[in-house]
Amino acid sequence: MVRTIVGANWGDEGKGKITDMLAGESDIVVRFQGGANAGHTIINDYGRFALHLLPSGVFNPNVVNIIGPGVALNIEALLSELDSVVKAGVPAPKLLVSERAQVMMPYHVLLDCYEEERLGAKNFGSTKSGIAPFYGDKFQKIGLQLCQLYYPEVLREKLTHALSIKNALLEHLYHKPQIDLEELIDKMTALAERIRPYVCDTNLYLHEACRAGKRVLLEGQLGTLRDPDHGIYPMTTSSSPLAGYGPVGAGVPLWAMSDVIAVTKAYSSCVGRGPFTTELFGEEAQELRVRGGDKGEFGATTGRPRRVGWFDAVATRYGCMMQGATQVALTNMDVLGYLPEIPVCVAYEIDGERTENFPVTPLLERAKPVYEMLPGWMCDTRGIRKYEDLPENARRYVEFIEARIGAPVRFVSNGPRRDEIIIR
Ligand code: GDP
Repeated sequence: MVRTIVGANWGDEGKGKITDMLAGESDIVVRFQGGANAGHTIINDYGRFALHLLPSGVFNPNVVNIIGPGVALNIEALLSELDSVVKAGVPAPKLLVSERAQVMMPYHVLLDCYEEERLGAKNFGSTKSGIAPFYGDKFQKIGLQLCQLYYPEVLREKLTHALSIKNALLEHLYHKPQIDLEELIDKMTALAERIRPYVCDTNLYLHEACRAGKRVLLEGQLGTLRDPDHGIYPMTTSSSPLAGYGPVGAGVPLWAMSDVIAVTKAYSSCVGRGPFTTELFGEEAQELRVRGGDKGEFGATTGRPRRVGWFDAVATRYGCMMQGATQVALTNMDVLGYLPEIPVCVAYEIDGERTENFPVTPLLERAKPVYEMLPGWMCDTRGIRKYEDLPENARRYVEFIEARIGAPVRFVSNGPRRDEIIIR
């Protein structure tokens, strides 16, 4: 049985917490796309962690954590994250890394930074972790799979070819220092040795696990609206954060797929650029930003203040639809307890016409939110463990959202800690 946890919106929905919680009833947790460019915040008995590459199952000693072939593998980042988790007192996690995972190269990170710099005001708001150049190379077939690092002639040949292109760009387009082939070969060879104990055929491992009826959890990064095909292109990421990509990026059989749990916040938040219809500004935004999440709405990877807004049922319904959500986890419900009235965006108005369907990017840029006002509950809901014990207006809010997004809200999260959850 394979369950998939994904974001219904722009990312940062609280997937890490839900994964950490469900990891307790899983045998295997797999990352299937993205890289060290986003962070999952997890708060449990060991402390507060911002994981970037490690699967969120690392806090459960019985869970096998897997980096699937679809991930952008930054070896240094992964190993240092592993070190920091162990230093914090977490028992050494069981980790397997796919031999087919492609390796993030130092030049990917450099080119990501230089390109954002070159674009100036027209930049993509990249996290500068190398993601776009990395996936560009993968599909241009000049990337390196982890397994190739263990064959010295292959490594030399591939890097010689890649550097002939990268050094031309560095010199002529960006006017930056070139990369030395021998230094890079030494660095990648050393990193390959350090990660060797974890490397294996995770495809075979996962297929056998599925046949044996093991419980597998796929952990998505970012959310629907950052999908390169179905999101707000080009303000998207470079790998698919959709559950539909899960079997490919993780290497699990399609027949084993079961539930898709889409995570969404009780309000909206967004890091990076792009149209964000319900965005708030000024004092109203600052109030929500400071109260949101566990330490205010600031990016787990970049520390950037997140853009915040009211719940967008149009975007979230689309987000759940494209994820094929069978269940929804609504997080950060506790945050809204200070509001006497809460606006929920139920439709967009585009050029004078009302629509409840999520449009393509050029139209989205012209969309204005149509709000319905719901009464707030004006109290702290943290500590409540049963749905019936929530204030009536909080339940009305959940049920209103559920009806609008077309998928059942099974989890209501009312605090950042693992146990602060209401299961309906
Ligand atoms: P992810 O990338 O989807 O895992 O999300 P992030 O970890 O980047 O952002 C979610 C933020 O919300 C983090 O600060 C979490 O600690 C926090 N969080 C998650 N669920 C809740 C909740 O129910 N209530 C509150 N107050 N914070 C939450």
